[in-house]
Amino acid sequence: MIKAIETRYKGHRFRSRLEARWAVFFDASGIKWIYEKEGFSVNGKPYLPDFYLPEFGYFEVKGRYEYDDQLMQEFANEIREPLFVAFEEIPLPESGRGYLKTFIPQSYAPEGEMMYWGYDDMFLECDECGKISVQNAVYDTIKGNCCEGSREMSLEHALMEAREARFEHGDKPKV
Ligand SMILES: [Zn+2]
Repeated sequence: MIKAIETRYKGHRFRSRLEARWAVFFDASGIKWIYEKEGFSVNGKPYLPDFYLPEFGYFEVKGRYEYDDQLMQEFANEIREPLFVAFEEIPLPESGRGYLKTFIPQSYAPEGEMMYWGYDDMFLECDECGKISVQNAVYDTIKGNCCEGSREMSLEHALMEAREARFEHGDKPKV
């Protein structure tokens, strides 16, 4: 089995380069992050989300398009915060598509309605006040209300910075 290379960035040892790249993205966007804040038990299964973003919720990085749907939805429901999942690699900004799958807590749904996942979500920056929100097809924005600017900026600079980041030498595959 091939193991991801542990990567150091800002005093953290990330389990993979992809995780470290997302940390670079958050820094370049001004999004606060905490790496592996705490582990949980979801219906008896251990679950340790990769990042906690205090302004948004939990953030999971997946090298492959594989995830445990049910676990993630139950986690979001229990913790009453959204869980964002990013897949495979830092996206190219010009693709124009979202790159996040969002598990929205059921508690966010209006009374008596079912809450559904978001697809193709992404971080956007308000072009008027600079506030960052997550664009979501279910809710226009999650925890992102600001000045009602047009929110058209897709943080391309931060995505590019994350894609192009070089990390220190001497990374060794975990034995
Ligand atoms: Zn705004």
